[in-house]
Formats: sequence, structure tokens, C-alpha cells
Amino acid sequence: MSAKFDIVIIGGGVIGTAIARRLSRYELDICLLEKDADVASGTSKANSGIIHAGYNAAVDTLKGRLNIKSNPLFDKIAEDLKVPFKRIGSLVVGFTEEDKEWLKKEKEMGESKGIKDLQLLDQKELLHQEPEIHSEASAALYAPTAGIISPYKLTIAQAENAVKNGVEIKLLSEVVDIRTKNGYIAGVILNSGEEIKTKVIINAAGLYADEIAAMVGERYKITPRKGEYNLFDKEYGDLVNHVIFPMPSKESKGILITPTVDGNLLLGPNSNPVEEKDDLAVTKEGLEEIWQGGTSLYPNLPRDGVIASFAGLRATLPSDDFKIEALNEPVGFIDVAGIQSPGLSSAPAIANMVAEILDDIRTSLQEELKLIEANFLPELEKQPSFQDYKQNLHEWQQIFLQNKKYGEVICRCEHVTRGEIEAELDKEFISPTLNGIKRRTRAGGGRCQGGFCGPRIAEIIAEKIGISPLEVTKSGPGSEILWTRVKDVKPDRDIVYGMGDKS
Ligand SMILES: Cc1cc2nc3c(=O)[nH]c(=O)nc-3n(C[C@H](O)[C@H](O)[C@H](O)COP(=O)(O)OP(=O)(O)OC[C@H]3O[C@@H](n4cnc5c(N)ncnc54)[C@H](O)[C@@H]3O)c2cc1C
Repeated sequence: MSAKFDIVIIGGGVIGTAIARRLSRYELDICLLEKDADVASGTSKANSGIIHAGYNAAVDTLKGRLNIKSNPLFDKIAEDLKVPFKRIGSLVVGFTEEDKEWLKKEKEMGESKGIKDLQLLDQKELLHQEPEIHSEASAALYAPTAGIISPYKLTIAQAENAVKNGVEIKLLSEVVDIRTKNGYIAGVILNSGEEIKTKVIINAAGLYADEIAAMVGERYKITPRKGEYNLFDKEYGDLVNHVIFPMPSKESKGILITPTVDGNLLLGPNSNPVEEKDDLAVTKEGLEEIWQGGTSLYPNLPRDGVIASFAGLRATLPSDDFKIEALNEPVGFIDVAGIQSPGLSSAPAIANMVAEILDDIRTSLQEELKLIEANFLPELEKQPSFQDYKQNLHEWQQIFLQNKKYGEVICRCEHVTRGEIEAELDKEFISPTLNGIKRRTRAGGGRCQGGFCGPRIAEIIAEKIGISPLEVTKSGPGSEILWTRVKDVKPDRDIVYGMGDKS
């Protein structure tokens, strides 16, 4: 017998999970389907993590309007979901008289949109705020309402909270087809062959939203636009105090430098169209491009401080705007597509807009959907994290005395304890993979990038889940990290051919 839900959300990015959490306020049966081994596996894991103030996108675009509506909502969301969020403010930095004129106009435009407290800084004020900035930088537009957040922690927390409020999340569940009946949505087919019946499909599949839309006969094309990054060691996290933007280009807000909420420094992204939706390769040229961009603002960026490089892909539509609407046919299909930047900053308002669209179409569904308020629980519990107690070891000692596992440091770079890792694996919504643990606890995310703690984390996952360490993966099937036990290796062959030779 196939499962049946009122609503199926396709895609577990920041948008799909924000929608799941928002709709979990109603007494509805909701299922979120994600093709990968965890939520935040697509664009939501690799971006700048900035909650933009919202002055730069035009108000006649959806992305402009929704960013402005969303920005003030983040304090409460972050508090409820226990996600680190800091309103550190942003600076757009200019060098020439022409730049100054542009910054002035941008300020006026921002003010006309209702963005509060925008200020123009002269060179002296700028240097006071950012002592390490290029000595020829002469002015800046300061937006105090811009902030930084961990995009994957937000996505995971939204998913956890949605599950707490009754949403079912199915990982490793790729939608390969959609069933319709007499012009109405009837269900989805998964890669496993399973059918899930539903009245409403919300298409939040990011880069693949066009392929999902094509399953109901809708035609549009999403082009991936790559952005590459360098992440610096925590040692350099306080080189800058704000999100620092250069003057923007037509394609993007430019190559920025920002502290991250975890205390690192982030440089990037560039913006180049690519052919493939899984082309996440960092290139020599791309890294050089961002380095040029970064050093034009901060000449003293430390090259040997880079601990990781990565890329993310923007899902762009020809309109260069979000597409959030219900189709006339099949009834019950809602597109949430083209969610490029500032999609992270706009997520809560996008979720609210989807709730309004659902209210509009619910009576025209084959079977009416009632939006009855449920007993919504908005908060998650704060998990103890050694990082937060470093200045207060006495308090941490109390946690340790209750559970000795909080005294066993597993990740030496980020100081993550066994207790923290096991607590994540005890939750209702988990992804028992190395990446799943890294994104939840930061274990493996430091300078050695898991070189030391990776095998120990794999051991903990195996023990807790009751699987063999050989079955533990980095990010789902196909990414197993071990292929045999050393004890099982035949010395006469493997010493000659090495561990990599499976034949
Ligand atoms: C370089 C870069 C920098 C950015 N910086 C910022 C920023 O600083 N601030 C900001 O506001 N925005 C920023 N953005 C934009 C922001 O990251 C995106 O708007 C946001 O992450 C989009 O989320 P999403 O949920 O739509 O997509 P995704 O996170 O990609 O989620 C879609 C999910 O759908 C799943 N999926 C796809 N097909 C299927 C299927 N058939 N079945 C089941 N699941 C499926 C995918 O696996 C994926 O997990 C940036 C983007 C990039 C690329």
C-alpha cells in the first residue's frame, strides 16, 4: 500500500525545510523528500551565509521584496532554533569619486525601501571600523541590519523543528516522476519505485526544480552559476569585523570577505555560468579570481591561512528572479524555483508566501484542504557545546560530571566531545554520516579537516547506529570511507598493490 500525505515538499534545502516548518503549524500530513543523505546537501550547504539587509535588489522583484520582509524575522528564528546568528552589519567599499556617488544613490534607494540606519562612512570612519582594509579605500555604505548565519545549521534546525511538529522527512528519496489525475496532482514516484499519494506538491528542488516542473509538463530552464570560496583558519576570523563587499557588478554582489558565525574567515564567491548541475569543482583560475578580488580590499590576506576551498551553484532563471506560484494545471503544484541569492535571507518570507498560496488554492483542490492551526512548538532545545563554554570551564565541568562523555575530546581542532556527537545521533532526525556530524557539531570541520578525528567519528557512528564501520559513509551510499579491515588484508598481495587496489 502506498503512503498518503496532504502535502509533499520536494527538496530539503533551506527553502524546503523553511516551508516544512511553516506548514507544520497546521494539522496537515506533510512529507519532505530529499534525494541526498541529509538536508542542506545542495546550494544551502555552500554559500556566503549572509542575511542581507536588502537594499540592493529592486522592489519590483520578488527577491527584493521578500529579502526586506525576511531580514527582521531572523532574530526570533535563530533564538527559537538555537542557531548562531550575528547582526554584524555590512560595508560596501568604494575607492573613487564615482563609487562615492553610487554609494550615496544606493543609500537613498535603500531608505526609500524602508531599510533602517544606513550610513555613509568616510575614509577615517571606515579605517576605524576596519583597520586592515586597503589604505586607498575611501568610503563605505554601512548597513547595520545585515547579519551572518550558518546556512546548513539553519536548514538542519528547521528540519528538526518540522519533524518535532509532525513532518516526516525521507532522506535518500529522489522523486523521479509525478502522477496526475484529471488535471489534479495525485502523487510522486521515488527512485525506489515507491509511490507517495498527495494532493499538493511543493517544488523546492533548487537546481533541479526545472526537471521536477518538466514532470508536469512545465518548461523553464535553470542555469547553474558557480561561486568559489576560500575558508581561512579561525586564527584569521577577526581580520575583518563586518561583511565586506566591493562595488557590485551586474552579475553579482561581488567577491566579499566576511567572518563566519563559527569564527573563521570566508573569501568569495565569483560568479561564472557552468554546464553541469553537479560541477562543484574548484578551479585554479577561479581561486585566483577570488584571491585578486579579496586582496583588492584586504592586501594582507594570509595565503597559508586557507584551510578549505569549495564551490556552490546558484539556480538562476532567465528572469533573474524567484518564481513562486501555483500552476493552473495540474491543480496542486506549487513552484518555488530560481531561488538564487538572496534566497537564504528570504527563506522565512518565501515560506510565508507559500502558506498564502496554499490558502488561495486549497478550495480548488479535488479534495479541499483545511488549514487548522495545530499546537505548534517553535523551539528546539539548546545542545551543550564545549565551544560555548571555553570561557567558563566551571560550568562545563557540571555538564561533564553528569555525563563523562562530554569530557572526551574527539575533534581536536574544533574541540568537539564524544557527548556532543552522540547527542546528535540520539535525536529524532539524524544523518549518520561524517558530513552529517560535521555540519551539526563541527567535528571534522577544523584545520585538519577530519584527518585525525574522521576514523573515531566513524567508529562512534557505527557503534550508535549498530552498523559496521565499513558501512559508514561521508555523505551517503557510494562514499564509504573504508573498504576492508587491515586484519583481512592478504599481506602477499596488498603490500605490493597497496590499500587502494581492490582487484
Ligand atoms: C555562491 C553562492 C553564494 C550565496 N550567498 C548567499 C548569501 O550570502 N545570502 C543569501 O541570502 N543567499 C545566498 N545564496 C543563495 C542561497 O544559497 C540559495 O538561495 C538557497 O540555498 C537555495 O536553497 P534551496 O532550498 O532552494 O536549494 P537547495 O539548497 O539546492 O535545495 C534543494 C534540494 O532539493 C534536492 N533535490 C533536487 N532534486 C530532487 C529530487 N528529484 N528529489 C528529491 N530531492 C531533490 C537537492 O538534493 C537539494 O538538497 C548564495 C548562493 C550561492 C551559490
